[in-house]
Amino acid sequence: MTIGWHFDNSYYKLPKLFREEINPVPVKKPGLVIFNENLAKDLDLDFSKSSEEEISNIFSGNNLPKGSNSIAQAYAGHQFGHFTMLGDGRAVLLGEHISNSNERFDIQLKGSGRTSFSRGGDGRAALGPMLREYIISEAMYGLNIPTTRSLAVVTTGENVIRGEKLPGAVLTRVASSHIRVGTFQYIAARQKIDELETLINYVINRHYPYINNTNKKASELLKVLMEKQIELVVNWMRVGFIHGVMNTDNMSISGESIDYGPCAFMDIYDPNTVFSSIDQFGRYSFSNQPKIIKWNLLRFAECLIPLLDKNENKAIDKATNIINEFEKIYEHRWLNMMRDKLGLFGINNDDKKLISDLLKIMFDEKLDYTKTFSYLMGIKLKNENSFQNKRFLSWKKEWLKRLNSQTKPSSDQLNLMKKNNPLIIPRNYHVEKALTNASEGNLDYLKELLAGIQRPYEYDNESTIFFSSVKIDKNYKTFCGT
Ligand code: AMP
Ligand code: MG
Repeated sequence: MTIGWHFDNSYYKLPKLFREEINPVPVKKPGLVIFNENLAKDLDLDFSKSSEEEISNIFSGNNLPKGSNSIAQAYAGHQFGHFTMLGDGRAVLLGEHISNSNERFDIQLKGSGRTSFSRGGDGRAALGPMLREYIISEAMYGLNIPTTRSLAVVTTGENVIRGEKLPGAVLTRVASSHIRVGTFQYIAARQKIDELETLINYVINRHYPYINNTNKKASELLKVLMEKQIELVVNWMRVGFIHGVMNTDNMSISGESIDYGPCAFMDIYDPNTVFSSIDQFGRYSFSNQPKIIKWNLLRFAECLIPLLDKNENKAIDKATNIINEFEKIYEHRWLNMMRDKLGLFGINNDDKKLISDLLKIMFDEKLDYTKTFSYLMGIKLKNENSFQNKRFLSWKKEWLKRLNSQTKPSSDQLNLMKKNNPLIIPRNYHVEKALTNASEGNLDYLKELLAGIQRPYEYDNESTIFFSSVKIDKNYKTFCGT
């Protein structure tokens, strides 16, 4: 029986400072909850001849795949603005699996037990939050947004205490890597210049080999990460996603969305939306996300100072000049993204006003972010009354004027909108219902939801329950679940 693991653990070969060698702590009674067959296929892994027991033994950490070198990664991070030494306190990286097309994937178990980075935590995770990560990461993948993915969730047969007793679980996370801004912060805080250079070279070889040939690697890396993170956050703004805990340890160097804790999608449009119960001051609210990306990039730039220039002042100037471009690039990308959502080709000087007018109306009239664009695409909604008010109708006239001034056929306009406006997002109501049912042992709703969010732009889905109206809980709160 060959599953097809092909490990090549390059991170493991980095200096010891970068990680602790440690195995997952075995669990009492692994039980498979959900397994991502499609992702397994993409990884060229074949579990068709493995029993459910064998699969759950692997993805609980009880039986390590051949070729893995289990480690906990060291990293630091600014959490809500405060610098802390962190590291994988409840996760281990089994290693890097290489697919047939030579792509490299980190295979990580989350909830795998204590490590030297656990800082008093139990090293474990509860079933609800692990299933939430599974749902949201697969939704992001369906939405064509760079993301880590979820291969399996296995219960441990042990309870975890989170104010109450909850079933413990392990999530298998697949990522192009788990290197974070916080990884650089960890090395930089120790003032290990050689190791910092090792890390930069490693990241460039692994993720951005095309900048290998310049003699300004550090500044090129800063520019590339800024581009990647702007692309990512513009995508979040496109679909109304709120990450909820954008600490620098949760910002991936690869540009993938990572660490789905208290994240959620916005229903009613409000730029100040915050779902996370611990985000009391709205630091990570919907509209703050680009500002926080910039703040995090500044922390990244600080790590690179010793390698940007031998002269510290010059190095600071170089970093500042790069990051000063942030607003201009973001604004440009965001505007183009909103144009796409509205089916607008080319550039018209009035576009910015047209877009901000729409957002203002959406806010004042408490319109649903996703459904407003569905309505503009001509999708029949159950309740269209909210779009019949005077302000919205007069805005729509202006929009149609702009559309009609384009030379492109209306089918092109509609196709552009279809590609950029999801019909289905994992709405809070559905996610909660799926998680509640799952905690009672019924996975039907979870599986239905997963089927819906895998094809969020498809029109034959419009009749599904995940598109139709749902109750909106204005006081909805999400929790970190640690
Ligand atoms: P997160 O909020 O998941 O990004 O985690 C932030 C930090 O806390 C990371 O270093 C985690 O490894 C650590 N952590 C979170 N939950 C636990 C836990 N239950 N036990 C040990 N460490 C944890
Ligand atoms: Mg994290």
